[in-house]
Amino acid sequence: MPFYDLKCDNCNEEFNVMAKMSEREQKLIKCPKCGSNELSPVFKNLNYSISRKNEMAACPNAGKCGNRCGLM
Ligand SMILES: [Zn+2]
Repeated sequence: MPFYDLKCDNCNEEFNVMAKMSEREQKLIKCPKCGSNELSPVFKNLNYSISRKNEMAACPNAGKCGNRCGLM
């Protein structure tokens, strides 16, 4: 089961919950503070994902050139 970092749209409480994907999709996860199921995901690893994407897009040879292509 994946962990979700969620933020409550109602009271702004941030919490971490382990739930099935289907529970997340069907809004079965509730805020531990106020009980609302209006939750937004918190992307704590967003910066990491972006830098990874840039890295892969930068070199057309996918690293085979040893980063000497000057597109770093
Ligand atoms: Zn709440």
